[in-house]
Amino acid sequence: MKSRVNRVILIGTGAVGSSYAFAMLNQGVAEELVLIDLNKEKSEGDAMDLNHGMPFAPSPTKIWFGDYSDCEHADLVVLCAGANQKPGETRLDLVEKNTKIFKAIVEDVMASGFDGIFLVATNPVDILTYAVWKFSGLPKERVIGSGTILDTARFRFLLGDYFNVDTRNVHAYIIGEHGDTELPVWSHADIGGKLISKMIKEKEQYSQKDLDNIFLNVRDAAYHIIERKGATYYGIAMGLVRLTKAILQNQNSILTVSTYLSGEYGHRDLFIGVPAIVNRYGIREIIELELSEDEQSRFSHSVDVLKDIMTPVFNQKS
Ligand code: NAD
Repeated sequence: MKSRVNRVILIGTGAVGSSYAFAMLNQGVAEELVLIDLNKEKSEGDAMDLNHGMPFAPSPTKIWFGDYSDCEHADLVVLCAGANQKPGETRLDLVEKNTKIFKAIVEDVMASGFDGIFLVATNPVDILTYAVWKFSGLPKERVIGSGTILDTARFRFLLGDYFNVDTRNVHAYIIGEHGDTELPVWSHADIGGKLISKMIKEKEQYSQKDLDNIFLNVRDAAYHIIERKGATYYGIAMGLVRLTKAILQNQNSILTVSTYLSGEYGHRDLFIGVPAIVNRYGIREIIELELSEDEQSRFSHSVDVLKDIMTPVFNQKS
C-alpha cells in the first residue's frame, strides 16, 4: 500500500510556472502541488485562483502557497524560477544570473531533507540542470532538464502540419543544446514507420528545402514568440506536465530531456538534450541513436558551445 501521496513543489510561479500549475490541475496529475516564489503575493493569488477551479478539475489536487520546508516530503521539485529571456537575449546570456539564483534555491530545497527528483525548465536549461546536479549532490539520474522536449514538440507539430498527419504519429527528435546549436535527427525521423527522408523523394510537393525551413522555424520559435508576446509558456508548461506524468506514473516514456552524458554520443560531463527513458526513478537510460556523420559533428559542436560557457563556471573536464 502506498504510504503517502504524490507531492510536487513548483518553484517559480511566473508565466511558465503558473501555466504548468494550471495544466497540472487540468490533467489531475498530482495529489499535492505546492507553489513557492519570491513574489509571495503573486504565488498566493495563484494558489487561490487555481483552488477555485477545483470543482471543474478531473480529480482533486491540494494546492497551497508554501515554503522550502514543504520540500522534505516532495517527490518532485520543478524549477521555473529565475530571470527569463529578454528580446534579443540568447538563453546563454542568462547563465550567470540564474546560476546564482539556483545555488540559493537548491541549497534551501536540500536543507529540507528533500530526496526526490529535480526537474529544471529555467534557461539556459542544460547549464542550470548541471548546476542543480552539482549543488544538490543527488545522483545524476534524479536531475532532469526539460532539454529539447519543447523543440521536439514544435518539430513534430510542424512536420505533422506539413505532411497533414496527426503530430502524435510523427516520430522525430531535436537533440543538443536547448538553443541555437540544437539539431534535427533526420536520419531517424519517421511517420508511421516511413522515413521522412524517403517520403520527400516520393512526392513532388515535398522538398528538402521545406524541411530545412521547418527546422529553422523550430530553432527560432522562441525568438518569434518572444517578439510577439514577450515570453513562451503554454508549450513548455504542457511538456513539463508530460514529464511529470512520466516520472510520477512510472511510464518509462522516451522523451528528449537534458541528461548527464557519461560517454554516450562521444561526450561526458555535461547535461544536454538526447532521447532518454524516464520513469519513477528519473532517467532509466539514454537512447543512443546511430547519428549520421553530419548529425554527429553538429551534436559535438553543440556540446563544445555549452562546454565553452560552462568550463569557467564549473571548472569541468572535457
Ligand atoms: P517569469 O519572469 O514570468 O517568472 C519567473 C519567476 O521566478 C517569477 O515569478 C519570479 O518571482 C520567480 N523567482 C525569481 N527568483 C526567484 C527565487 N530566488 N526564488 C523563487 N522564485 C524566484 O519567467 P517565465 O516566463 O516564467 O520563465 C521562467 C524560466 O523558464 C526562464 O528562464 C525562461 O527562459 C524559461 N523557459 C524555458 C523553456 C524551456 O523550454 N525550457 C521555455 C520557456 C521558458
